[in-house]
Amino acid sequence: MNWADSPEQAAFREEVRAFIRDNFPEGYRPDPGAEQSLEPEDVWGYNWPADRVSDDPERRDGARRWAAALAERGWITPHWPKEYGGAGLSVMEEFILQEEMMRARVPTVNGIGAFLLGPTLLEAGTDEQRATHLPPIARGEVTWAQGFSEPGSGSDLASLRTRAVRDGDHYVVDGQKVWTSLGQYADWLFVLVRTEPDADPKHRGITFLLVDARSPGLTINPITDIRGDTPFCEMFFDGVRVPVSCRVGEENRGWYVAMTALSFERAGIGATIKYEQAVAELVRYLSSEEGRRFVRDDASVRQEIARRYTEIRVLYNLARYSVSRQAAGEVPGHEASISQMFGAELHQRLARTGAKAFGEFARLWQREDAPLAAAFTHMRRDSVATTFLGGTSEIQRNVIATRGLGLPRS
Ligand SMILES: Cc1cc2nc3c(=O)[nH]c(=O)nc-3n(C[C@H](O)[C@H](O)[C@H](O)COP(=O)(O)OP(=O)(O)OC[C@H]3O[C@@H](n4cnc5c(N)ncnc54)[C@H](O)[C@@H]3O)c2cc1C
Repeated sequence: MNWADSPEQAAFREEVRAFIRDNFPEGYRPDPGAEQSLEPEDVWGYNWPADRVSDDPERRDGARRWAAALAERGWITPHWPKEYGGAGLSVMEEFILQEEMMRARVPTVNGIGAFLLGPTLLEAGTDEQRATHLPPIARGEVTWAQGFSEPGSGSDLASLRTRAVRDGDHYVVDGQKVWTSLGQYADWLFVLVRTEPDADPKHRGITFLLVDARSPGLTINPITDIRGDTPFCEMFFDGVRVPVSCRVGEENRGWYVAMTALSFERAGIGATIKYEQAVAELVRYLSSEEGRRFVRDDASVRQEIARRYTEIRVLYNLARYSVSRQAAGEVPGHEASISQMFGAELHQRLARTGAKAFGEFARLWQREDAPLAAAFTHMRRDSVATTFLGGTSEIQRNVIATRGLGLPRS
């Protein structure tokens, strides 16, 4: 496969590099103590929704200035039409922008709003919903979180039980959501609720609602994960009133709206560049004098690293393949599941390989003691979640088997 840039793409790539060089705020530095954000496209040391409201004035100011610079070009929402604050970029240009931002290790802004909710509203929202909600996302002023999963309803999402009952021009919502990424920073949520308890099949009784995170009756509690970090939340709905005008699509047809949102989640370049950089740093260190002295030097480690490098190239090719299909006007389908699953499992293998290379030093946890060894140790813990967060590996395999290969469901 030849993925070389066309002259126009090469010029655009140069434009992005110059933009980052000239506009990324000087004082907006990665936080060396921060846990890795679990969102695949985020670069290490930044978590834009958290940085935007940080107690550290320099970090807060940096996050806001970066968002303002991107917004001026429409590059928070590069693929959206210009009328809503996007840049109207082609799929390929959007890919290049994302790739260059990851290479330069600068954070994307407002990912859930820009890449999940936005495209969903563009496809299924009303004119009023688009006019109200899209421009503030494109300006980096309002952040969103996705409230789909519930205790007992993750892979089997259609079994969800959070109930919404119509009361005049409102729905009254009661129930619980869980694992809501970045929910504690969100201004708004998009949630799935059950509006028809006896629906058969279950997914026909679900509705898609937009909920103001400050609504009375809504409680959002951060959950602490294995790393001691709080990447997600649980949310309790106790008689929360949501205007009917905040319903996306028809009542009981929200499942189809949600599937549109999830198909966007599984597309894109993912974490390829992040993995590539991790391997490059490992190789650099192992080749250095210090690396030779401290780190295990055996053939199996070298072979594992070579294998990881090869897999990263495969992942990059999968991403380019998905994007080239999108560029041809096709909706991401089971190919996106292949990328998502392969990337998530590669994350775990890469973390294990790094830890193996460092041998007993991989037990070091403090970054100031051994930055690279600790980075792989932290990566090992981060990687536990990757085969869950965008749909588990088993579910992705089911999608590939049934939708990709046409195998029977049972
Ligand atoms: C870091 C992180 C961030 C997340 N962010 C969000 C978010 O922002 N919003 C949101 O709504 N949710 C979010 N989630 C939730 C995520 O979508 C769910 O964890 C996921 O869908 C799996 O659901 P579950 O945790 O209930 O596990 P379960 O569905 O209970 O799965 C348990 C195990 O059973 C297996 N299994 C289940 N069904 C089948 C089957 N049919 N065939 C074979 N094996 C099966 C699974 O593969 C898994 O190994 C997040 C999760 C994580 C870890």
